[in-house]
Amino acid sequence: MNRLANFCAGPATMPTEVLQKAQAELLDWRGKGVSIMEISHRSADYIEIADKAEQDLRTLMGISDDYAVLFLQGGASLQFSAVVLNLLNGKTADYLNTGTWSQKAYKEAKRYEALGLGRINLVAQGDGKDVPTLDTWQLSESASYFHYCPNETIHGVQIFDVPKVNAPIVADMSSCILSEPINVSDFGLIYAGAQKNIGPAGLTLVIVRKDLMEQASAWCPGILNYKTQSDSDSMLNTPSTFAWYLSGLVFEWLLANGGVKSIAKTNRAKAELLYQVIDDSGFYHNAVNPRHRSIMNVPFTLADAELDKVFLEKSKNTGLLNLKGHRAVGGMRASIYNAVSHEQVQALVDFMREFEKTYA
Ligand SMILES: *Cc1c(COP(=O)(O)O)cnc(C)c1O
Repeated sequence: MNRLANFCAGPATMPTEVLQKAQAELLDWRGKGVSIMEISHRSADYIEIADKAEQDLRTLMGISDDYAVLFLQGGASLQFSAVVLNLLNGKTADYLNTGTWSQKAYKEAKRYEALGLGRINLVAQGDGKDVPTLDTWQLSESASYFHYCPNETIHGVQIFDVPKVNAPIVADMSSCILSEPINVSDFGLIYAGAQKNIGPAGLTLVIVRKDLMEQASAWCPGILNYKTQSDSDSMLNTPSTFAWYLSGLVFEWLLANGGVKSIAKTNRAKAELLYQVIDDSGFYHNAVNPRHRSIMNVPFTLADAELDKVFLEKSKNTGLLNLKGHRAVGGMRASIYNAVSHEQVQALVDFMREFEKTYA
């Protein structure tokens, strides 16, 4: 077996133990003679898997009964629309833009303003390196919700403190869910595509306060309607059964490894290692305000962009994969999600030191 260190931003690396378990039971799931992906989502066997995944996620994140947990499809990108159609309710929604993803969510929401469904207000616009301070925010009087992205995956900009606003907070946690303990009760709604920090692509998690599920627009398709989906246990139509099952295995893996608190400690240590080697050198550079540096996605540039290709080729040959940065930022990006081990980050840091010695 040759599993290499994979720093891909998404779909991202998964825990080897989880893939091994899935492999072991792939052909003949629990002696049933069929694969889990070959049985009805309405069968008792599958429902048991689905329920257990939800219960384990509730345990991991401390999600109370005041919240519904939905296992949907369409990615985080479809939630850009679903949030508006379910929550805007003819009022104004506030959007904080701090990078590519919150910008996309804002743009998508704006389309519904044009349709007359309510108003979409830009609270503040970040530059992808820092977060505008609270005193510059243009918040509305009584917004139906406040939307932001706590971890901007492309720019590596993270907001660690939950914004102090009055409206229910909607957070796109695609790239930071389960990376650190949070208080779910601080949020009205949390959504996340699974393919960054949970499991395979094709599954989207939505955690929504139940009292917010009652105000959907008549335009909202049933498939996107939180109340409708909640009433049918996320099985209004065929869900992404295999991705749901694999995500459940990841939740079990997290629980077996001490839960979110424990993985958060490792995550902090991993990020510190990387930022340290960047800051210690005059060769690597990270442009983000240190107070907002992401612990999940670490973008960095080399002193000479001409060396990018060499860096990528040599790192790949060393077994360190997918370090190419997003084209919007350039340079490199190391995504160090839960399933990336401390040893793998150490190997990257060692490689970076060697590379600097040779080429600086
Ligand atoms: C990857 C990502 C998205 C897009 O997710 P899809 O599931 O591909 O729609 C949205 N927001 C954030 C923060 C992301 O990291």
